Amino acid sequence: MRVFLIIGPPGAGKGTQARLLVAKYGWGYLATGDLLRSEIQQGTPLGQQIRALVENGKLVPDELMIDLVTKYLGDSQATYLLDGFPRTLGQAEALEAFLRNRQGEIAGVFVLEVPERELIQRLMTRRQTEGRVDDSLETIHTRLQEYYAKTAPLISHYSAQGKLHRIVGTGSIEEVQNRLENALAHYV
Ligand code: AMP
Repeated sequence: MRVFLIIGPPGAGKGTQARLLVAKYGWGYLATGDLLRSEIQQGTPLGQQIRALVENGKLVPDELMIDLVTKYLGDSQATYLLDGFPRTLGQAEALEAFLRNRQGEIAGVFVLEVPERELIQRLMTRRQTEGRVDDSLETIHTRLQEYYAKTAPLISHYSAQGKLHRIVGTGSIEEVQNRLENALAHYV
């Protein structure tokens, strides 16, 4: 199993860019936020357990996330793009251990960089178009805090492994996609 990761703060455009990449390269795609929202919508036991956390912009505990993602990936031999996982160093280490056991690897990590003011503007617009409950101003601030405190440390973690590609996330969707494709050129 070969895995690419797309990380970045809320509103950086991870989902938009990831969906374009998987359509182009035919990879498997796992967006943990989508998976969690669908559990909540279906009212499953997991959905009920995590609803308040997700709606308030807090991260779901590592154990639950690791269990969910490793079950989803299973023994697949495919190439996957993971969007929104890992989000903590604990999740990153669990993913590495999981892949080691399957002769898999993290091939490359792409971090989308967008200034905070633009992130907030984008998320407020998305709230109007998509109606996500966690796109309220208060919850956006919580999600940004969670990102800086728990997810941003992954940047130096993957940089130390020589796997990190910093992608400027501003400009049009096509411009950002082109930057990603350029960074991907030596993998595909
Ligand atoms: P997203 O759609 O990626 O913005 O995720 C929406 C919400 O789902 C986040 O604010 C968290 O509450 C939760 N979530 C998604 N992925 C993770 C993860 N890897 N670890 C913990 N919580 C997550």
